[in-house]
Amino acid sequence: MQKNMCQIGVDIGGTAIKSVLVSSGQVLACKSIPTDIEAGPDKIIKDIAGLIKELKELSEGRVITGVGIGCPGAINSKTGMVDHAYNLKWDFVPLAAKLRELVGYPIRLSNDANAAAFGEARYGAGKNYKNSVFVTIGTGIGSGIIIDGKLYEGNQSKGAEIGHIVIRSGGEPCTCGRRGCFEAYSSATSLIRDTVRAMKKNPDSKLWQVAKSVDQVNGKTVFDAVMLNDKTAKSVFNHYIKMLGEGLVNIANSLRPEAIILGGGVCAQGEVILKPLRKFVAKYSFGDGPMVDILTASLKNDAGAIGAAALVEWEEQFPV
Ligand SMILES: [Zn+2]
Repeated sequence: MQKNMCQIGVDIGGTAIKSVLVSSGQVLACKSIPTDIEAGPDKIIKDIAGLIKELKELSEGRVITGVGIGCPGAINSKTGMVDHAYNLKWDFVPLAAKLRELVGYPIRLSNDANAAAFGEARYGAGKNYKNSVFVTIGTGIGSGIIIDGKLYEGNQSKGAEIGHIVIRSGGEPCTCGRRGCFEAYSSATSLIRDTVRAMKKNPDSKLWQVAKSVDQVNGKTVFDAVMLNDKTAKSVFNHYIKMLGEGLVNIANSLRPEAIILGGGVCAQGEVILKPLRKFVAKYSFGDGPMVDILTASLKNDAGAIGAAALVEWEEQFPV
């Protein structure tokens, strides 16, 4: 990639659309706007085109080689089509083709977690590894697989959904319709559910001191109560680490990447979760090794947009 070249990355979220102008992984400028979901896909695509034009004006004569987009939902990166995006209320939107019509640049579309995985692999916590798996812990569990430096998306880009591997048959219900998925135990939503349940069962727990009411419980509540040495919080924490660990061992056993990179709000806890997770994964991974490094993401909230921009460099993958 020559020095006077740059790419634009766009991360479409449920509340905001973030866009960045990137050259060799360095963010030169960024622009964000709220996601106007109610206005429908055509308005959002027009808004994205507006962001791209603003960033172009800031490119100081550099050549923009393309635009990468990370979008939530079921994406087909080969056709550039958003097949379904529940959060955006989209079905079969030809996002890449419509955007290309408006801006003229080649467009590379991918699932948002895959884009973030690629960003971390190229420029973030995974840059020293050729094989890594990114797991982002939020409302659900997002994931992306990097094999030999390339993003592995599966047939029609519908693979790499590690959040929907069952870790307990017949267990907690999942948004996908199955029961017992990794996501149904390890997402922030699941952690909040388990914290609330524990509070209701244990009126004396210090969890009540931290959250005041069950409506105020968030992904941090349990960690704050563990710091207060609360027994109930410790048992919620230990169960959460065990279930998250089970999912990570499944990743280690099926792909044996060099590293698993964790993203999302829970990762702000750093070593508090990493230490017991490393121990669990080392203990239960099949065979004698090599061990899988477990670390937190380093690009934080920019991983999706930077990763989307990085996808542009992956030229053979342009859908339109
Ligand atoms: Zn599921």
